[in-house]
Parts: sequence; C-alpha cells; structure tokens
Amino acid sequence: MTKHDFDTIVIGGGFAGVTACRDLAEQGYSVLLLEARDRLGGRTWSEHKKIGGWEGTVEFGGQWVYPDQQVNMMAEIERYGLTLKHSPAPVNYPTLRNGRHNPGPLPVPLEDVFDLERAVHQVISDSHRIELGIPLDKQRLEDLDIPFSEYLDNLGVSDAARAFVASFGNFFTGRYQDEVSALPPLQFIAQMGNSFIRAWGVIDEYLAEGTATLITAIADDSGADIRLGTPVDRVEQSDSGVLVTTRSGETFSAGTVVVATPMACWKNIEFNPPLSAHKDAATRENHVAYGVKVWAQVRGATPLPYTLPDPETSHGAALMFTQAEMEGDDQLMVGFFLQHPERESFGTDFQGVERFVQTLYPGAELIDYDIHPFVDEEWTGEGDWIAYKPGRISKSHSELSKPEGRLHFATADIAHTFLAWMDGAVEMGKKAAVDAQRLMTREMIESKVPARAKASAAASTSAQARA
Ligand SMILES: Cc1cc2nc3c(=O)[nH]c(=O)nc-3n(C[C@H](O)[C@H](O)[C@H](O)COP(=O)(O)OP(=O)(O)OC[C@H]3O[C@@H](n4cnc5c(N)ncnc54)[C@H](O)[C@@H]3O)c2cc1C
Repeated sequence: MTKHDFDTIVIGGGFAGVTACRDLAEQGYSVLLLEARDRLGGRTWSEHKKIGGWEGTVEFGGQWVYPDQQVNMMAEIERYGLTLKHSPAPVNYPTLRNGRHNPGPLPVPLEDVFDLERAVHQVISDSHRIELGIPLDKQRLEDLDIPFSEYLDNLGVSDAARAFVASFGNFFTGRYQDEVSALPPLQFIAQMGNSFIRAWGVIDEYLAEGTATLITAIADDSGADIRLGTPVDRVEQSDSGVLVTTRSGETFSAGTVVVATPMACWKNIEFNPPLSAHKDAATRENHVAYGVKVWAQVRGATPLPYTLPDPETSHGAALMFTQAEMEGDDQLMVGFFLQHPERESFGTDFQGVERFVQTLYPGAELIDYDIHPFVDEEWTGEGDWIAYKPGRISKSHSELSKPEGRLHFATADIAHTFLAWMDGAVEMGKKAAVDAQRLMTREMIESKVPARAKASAAASTSAQARA
C-alpha cells in the first residue's frame, strides 16, 4: 500500500469536520484537519461578551437544539457532559404585516383564524408525505420543490394567514419566499413530528456552556493534527491517494479526504478530477441564506415577545424575541433580519440595527448590540445556512453526499435529516467517517490478500522443493 502523510485529511473544522476527525481517529486512523479560519466552529461561534449591562455567552451563529428529535447533537452533548438551558418563555406572539402590528395573543387577527387552520392543515398533510432520513430525491416530491411563494398562493387562504406561514418559511430559509423551495421547510416540519407548533417554537433550548465548548471537546478528543488559518485550494485524486494543496502552497497526501466545508465553498476549491455534475451545479447556484443574527439590549419593547414579522413587507425583519430578562424596562433580545445583497436591508451599524428594533417595537430604544454577519465571509460562501432554491434538492439530494472516489462530503448543507442544522452537520460528519473507513478497510484487506497469497505460494513452493 502507498505510504501517505496521513490516513485522512479533513478540510473544514465546523461540527461536521470535527465529528469526522474524532470518529476516524477513534478507529486508529491518523487525521489532519485543515481549517481556513483562525478558529474552529465555522458557522457556530460562541464567546463570552458584554452587551450593555448584560454579560454572558453570545452565540453568533448556530445555537438552538431540539432535544426530542436531534439525536446526533444530543449524543455529543451527553458524551461530553454538557448541559442545555431554556430561553425565557414568551408571553405573547405579535406579528407585523404591511406595517400593521398585530399584538397577539393569536398570530393572526381573529377573523383569520379559520384560514390559518386551513393553511396549517395543508402544510401538515404535505409534511406527512416526507419520509424521515430518506434523501428527498428518492421520494417523488418534485411537486413540492416549487417556489415557496407559489406553494403559499396554492393554499388559497387570507393574506394574514398566508403571511404567517410565509414568515415561518422566511425565517427558516433566511431568504425571500419567491427564491426558495417549499420542500425544506416542509421537511423541517416533518422532522418536528409533523407539528407546525413545535417547528414554530423550536427556538428554546441551547448549550449553557456555548457551542465552542462542544466543538473544542470533540476536536480535543480526536487528537488530530489541527492546522488553523490553512485554507485548501486544490484537491487531486489518483489511484493511490489524494494530494491536498493549501493556499500557501504546502501539500499533504492521504488515502482519503473528507470535504467538510459549506457546499457553497466547494466551487472555490479546484478538484481534479472535477466534482460530479450534480455537486458542481449545486455549489455554483448560490443556495445560501442571508439571515443576520443580532444580540441587543433593548429598552421599552413589548415584554417577553416572540415577534414574527412578514419580511416581505417589513424591510427584511424576520424574528425577534427575549433571550434574557434585565432590570427595569430592558431585555436582552435576539433577532434576525435578511441582508440580501440585491434587496433593501437595515444594515449592521447602530442606526441600521436600531431601525430593525424600532420596526418591530416602535418607540423602543437600542442600548447596545453585537453581531457577526457570516453573510459577508468567504468561508461561508457568502451566505450563512443552506437555503435551497426550487428544483435542486428533489433532483440531487442523495448525489450531494455521495462519495467521489477517495473524497467524502460532510456538511449540514447536504444532511439527510436536519438539513441546515448543527444536528445535520454531526450526522454527515459521522456518515463521511464511516464511508472513509469502509474504503480504507477494503483497500487494506485487498493489499493484504495478494501479499498473503504470494507468501503462501512461496511457502508451498519451498515445501515442495524440500520434499
Ligand atoms: C446566524 C446563524 C444562526 C444559526 N442558528 C442555528 C441554530 O440555532 N441551530 C442549529 O442547529 N443551526 C443553526 N445554524 C446553522 C448551523 O450553524 C450550521 O448549519 C452548522 O453549524 C454547519 O456546520 P458545518 O460543519 O456543516 O459547516 P461549517 O460550520 O460552516 O464548517 C465548515 C468549515 O469549513 C471551513 N472552510 C471553508 N472553506 C475552506 C477551505 N477552502 N479550506 C479549509 N477550510 C475551509 C470554514 O471556515 C468552516 O470552519 C445557524 C447558522 C447561522 C449562520
């Protein structure tokens, strides 16, 4: 067998990458992790911060976990003895559409409740068509892989009921309804036990110690050789191995590679031979969300709200709720708005964030805030989580995670269960490790079988000569 620098090279150190490293190292393989940024965690990033009068762990990216369904994340959280914490329970559910504030308690005005019921009934019956864990291209779901706006029109319900379902989809996909497919939001509802209410209320439990603690625990456990600030530019496969070249020109060889970058970043790496037609098209089609997450100390907002505006008519505002109660009239709030490169956006400076807050809570005051716009970064592919446009996922889902020779692919962006979630990243990291291990085991056996056959042939020849 050819001698390589490492058994496996993992490219990218988010949840998918560190999980693949740990699982492969656990089986005795030598692993090199090459990460472009100067930190691990990718689209998760927690740090101890002060925001105005509040101090604690801020999650700039992925944060919430749904323990009942997200078994992959829960296995990691339990393995490393970490704990989950609840966000404060909201006391009202205001909505905002066409500049009109509906203070709740219902998410639509009273006259729209039957339309809301009809809409939700249709959504749930469509989500029931989706089988969990089976790639979406294997389920005859093309009729649901349509623009979300078209799906909403087909519901045939009142504007308020339509806008409420739309808000849920907009927040989940981080993009406007005409640009994204209806299928992933429906799959998400299927994963939440076919419950719209559970999907709506998913934002509750999060890691008390912060996601960085879990990422570090998994990475440390792997014992892998981890190189930060080392972007990969080229990956070349041959019959005997893979050669990986970094931006600074260093090369490393390995028997297998796990590509654990966001899907939108595959196009920035030169693959030789090139990626399959499905993967190549998917990485170039810009299936990325544009959600920006804000942490803010706000004075004078509605107490303990969970506000879902309609981003189409609210300048891109997508969600805001209370993360921690503070003294007096203040709350630490977390919000999301869309920062679409071709549409109007609040912007991430103080005035922009203040406009966002005041769009939702007129008269409220922004005291302080913190933000990290992943949407501007090369290492996310200039988006944040995955947001499939219509027509791709029902065609390519299983192809996107299919190994190509010695290359294995791992990211939440192609997950079979919780697409776009940390749980999906862990799922795909585990799958890539199993696939890579299977290849290495097969090659090891194949290399030993001829050697053994040769040795036993030689032994029998010399035995014959002695006789
Ligand atoms: C604002 C925001 C809020 C979110 N909220 C939630 C939430 O509440 N719950 C939840 O479950 N999920 C949430 N998500 C989604 C979740 O964070 C991601 O889906 C998940 O973390 C992705 O993990 P990954 O390993 O697939 O990719 P990533 O975390 O993106 O890791 C990929 C790594 O590859 C590296 N990389 C890229 N190109 C190269 C290269 N050429 N060479 C070397 N390295 C490279 C990147 O730097 C990165 O570290 C959120 C995401 C964002 C942005």
